[in-house]
Amino acid sequence: SKSTTMTQSTPTTTTDVDNPAHPLYRHRRTVVDFEYGPVLGEGSYSTVLVGKDKKTGKHYAVKKLDKAHIVKNDKVKYVMIERDALSKMNHPGIVRLYWTFKDNRSLYYVLDLARNGELYTYIRRLAPFDMNTAQFYAAEILLAIEHIHSRGVIHRDIKPENILLDDNLHIKITDFGSAKIIPPDSASKKSDDSEDGNAGRSRSFVGTAEYVSPELLRSEPTLQEADLWALGCVIYQMHAGRSPFKAATDYLIFQKIKNRDLAFPEDFPEVAKDIVEKLLVLEPSARLGSEATGGIEALKQHPYFEGVDWETVWESQAPPLK
Ligand code: ATP
Repeated sequence: SKSTTMTQSTPTTTTDVDNPAHPLYRHRRTVVDFEYGPVLGEGSYSTVLVGKDKKTGKHYAVKKLDKAHIVKNDKVKYVMIERDALSKMNHPGIVRLYWTFKDNRSLYYVLDLARNGELYTYIRRLAPFDMNTAQFYAAEILLAIEHIHSRGVIHRDIKPENILLDDNLHIKITDFGSAKIIPPDSASKKSDDSEDGNAGRSRSFVGTAEYVSPELLRSEPTLQEADLWALGCVIYQMHAGRSPFKAATDYLIFQKIKNRDLAFPEDFPEVAKDIVEKLLVLEPSARLGSEATGGIEALKQHPYFEGVDWETVWESQAPPLK
């Protein structure tokens, strides 16, 4: 078989190459190693399908990206960033990238399958979430963000559409196409951002404008704190059923964000209001959870998260979403 051939041609010791910990393990899959099932969804440059690994029977989400379409639309950079950022991640709250491969037409990313779709759908259907449910998802999102930042990455597009849910209704954050990878040798995280300034700016005109941070609208470099702004938007949305800066046009949304034109529904829980007000702060360094305010550790101490056992969140039973 093809895989036997590959194993034999591998120059290193091959005995444990089927062990996921082996450095070559992830390079050892190709298009024909999967049986493809139903389409899970379509993106602008991609189709996501269920893929069954013929070797193990395990199911994945296989994201198939059309090469010609990507090149034609000048998206090569985003596709590479998505791959590079995802491959740095190793966390239960983040979609894992297992293998990448290609054929003549397409690139393929083999990812964790998140069978329960987007948090967005559940917010639309069920919001306002009860306190317990909203707290659980906020805690998982915060832990995932903490991991992303610890790996030197800023996600920059956290929103309910990019928060997927697995079989057990735990989160898997996806879509790292807008991410920024902080160079490991940069003396300060706040240093040179020039290379990415345009990328950041142009991103604000694709997708949804509602979660864009005010610093990005001011054309300042976006730092880790941009993901905290987005967390504030998601918490608001779980309790209110709509995003905080909604308006008829992107222009009006941007005006609202820049002016922090923020209003809460009457029945919005007080403790949720307090954390949202501390996250949706125009100045990034003054946002609760910023380095200057004590980092993510300080955010975890907010009364909103009272009772959360941070060590066992991923093993715990998710609240029923219905
Ligand atoms: P765009 O590229 O236009 O921003 P997108 O980010 O939604 O769109 P994809 O990442 O290709 O594009 O995802 C397409 C759809 O497939 C999504 O709507 C999502 O619901 C579904 N999907 C993506 N990844 C997974 C996954 N790992 N598990 C289950 N479903 C997924």
